[in-house]
Amino acid sequence: MEYGKYAYFEGKIVPIEDAKVSIMTHAFNYGTGMFEGIRGYWNDEEGQLYIFKLKEHYQRMFKNFNLFKIELPITIEDASAVTVELARKNEYRRDMYIRPLAYKSSYEIGPRVHNLKNEFAIFNIPLGDYVNTSDGLNVMVSSWRRVPDNSIPARSKATGIYINSALASTEAKGNGFDEAIMLTQDGHVSEGSAMNLFMVRDSALVTTPVTSNILEGVTRQTIIQIAREQMDIETTVRPVDRTELYIADELFFCGTGAQVAPITSVDRRPVGGGKPGELTMKLQALYFAVVQNRLAEYSRWLTPVY
Ligand code: PMP
Repeated sequence: MEYGKYAYFEGKIVPIEDAKVSIMTHAFNYGTGMFEGIRGYWNDEEGQLYIFKLKEHYQRMFKNFNLFKIELPITIEDASAVTVELARKNEYRRDMYIRPLAYKSSYEIGPRVHNLKNEFAIFNIPLGDYVNTSDGLNVMVSSWRRVPDNSIPARSKATGIYINSALASTEAKGNGFDEAIMLTQDGHVSEGSAMNLFMVRDSALVTTPVTSNILEGVTRQTIIQIAREQMDIETTVRPVDRTELYIADELFFCGTGAQVAPITSVDRRPVGGGKPGELTMKLQALYFAVVQNRLAEYSRWLTPVY
């Protein structure tokens, strides 16, 4: 993996080689960390790198700190400022990805979230497509169920929770699929391994509710808003049955990594004739315009790095 030369670690920007944790670190042993995923988009004409919804990502992260009793001596504003400073120091002039991490840093044995030290770190990588966004993805319904809120809260990006995503992703890839869709314990559609899901049925745009063990996606919220404001389409947020996936007109994933990615088959059944959906691709074009600062009314969502 290519990565940025510098990282933010233990209160300062340091060479990435110096940003190391011990094998005794609590988060390494018990998954007691929480992360974010944020994208920076390079706009060549402007010679500018734009970070998309920086504040919104940190708002989600900092709110969820309460779940795991994470207290940090920094504010959302401090974290945002250092994120911009690090991206600038890494001199990215291409699309990139920002990975902030808050984690239990004490050297202690025993799973818990109280009475432990917390640390905050950030690293950067260059990132183009995380999944294919043009051809259409072939996905399977995973045999692994999404973790229920009463076991590990899926609305947080807890590091340990991604074992659930990893199992689903490996199962899908091992069976020749591009991605997985996970169901809740009661058999309703939840989300992908690292992306939210939208469906088009009879011209209605539908997405799964925050009570279906999903991450409350920043991109999901963006899609709901641009569909409303740019296309006059209201999104219906409701539980979705598994078999609706098989009869949907269109399906797509969305997320910081996934961006807007059409799905063209589920469990080897073609979706909407097996081609990326029309509404999906319109929303994708709008999304790319927004994140690259080609739709001025949304420039408030962008933080320039240079
Ligand atoms: N669900 C999961 C499990 C994820 O890891 C992600 C990626 N952060 C998403 C959904 C999409 O969320 P967002 O749009 O905030 O990146």
